[in-house]
Amino acid sequence: MRIDIATLFPEMCDAVLSESILGRAQKKGCFSLTCWNIRDYTLDKHRRVDDVPYGGGRGMVMQADPIYRCYEAICETAGTKPHVIYLSPKGRVFTQQRAVELAVMPHILLLCGHYEGVDQRVLDEIVDEEISAGDYVLTGGELPAMLVVDAVARMLPGVLPEDVCFEEESHFNGLLEYPQYTRPAVWHGREVPPVLLSGHHLHIENWRIAQSLAETQQKRPDLYADYLNKK
Ligand code: SAM
Repeated sequence: MRIDIATLFPEMCDAVLSESILGRAQKKGCFSLTCWNIRDYTLDKHRRVDDVPYGGGRGMVMQADPIYRCYEAICETAGTKPHVIYLSPKGRVFTQQRAVELAVMPHILLLCGHYEGVDQRVLDEIVDEEISAGDYVLTGGELPAMLVVDAVARMLPGVLPEDVCFEEESHFNGLLEYPQYTRPAVWHGREVPPVLLSGHHLHIENWRIAQSLAETQQKRPDLYADYLNKK
């Protein structure tokens, strides 16, 4: 899978996404990630990429042309048009389900806004969908873009040590994960649930399912209700 991020702050994304599991996965060739600096595509001699909003009002708006020229450069290197996602508080809130759907796409481009946002005309021209990190406003689309890359990339073959381990995690099947424990067996007087030390796989599996249901019912009654409705 190919992932591109178009941003005014490529170092921000590079620094985070080249570390740890995702950094190693890129080196292994599980996916490719390129962060593009939109500022490299302005024709303005002062490298300006924003201007005041038409109609007045506070702040600055990112101009259409540098974004479009950056998009064209990405299309040219790929030879095809990517699925273009604009990170926006107006978009649909990102979910595990959407991450699963994006993970089978061959090429996605994440467009990060900044300041007051982006000239609507370039969004109308190139964007396929808008994704939100949640119902709050951030200073830029970089953190949401990194969330999307992380959630999508960790499901690609070879990225995690065991490819299917994400299928047992929170949200994959609509429930939250069961509690996890590791050594020592007693810590600060708190014991690991005895069933996990029993070596009895069926009992452990049943305990985990029961815990997963209980955690979801207690912490996310909305998800629990959806889960029961779908059953
Ligand atoms: N004026 C815009 C509004 O009220 O909808 C908010 C602009 S915000 C300060 C600047 C940029 O941050 C946006 O263009 C978007 O790319 C990004 N952003 C902010 N909050 C976001 C969120 N919840 N999810 C995804 N992107 C977000």
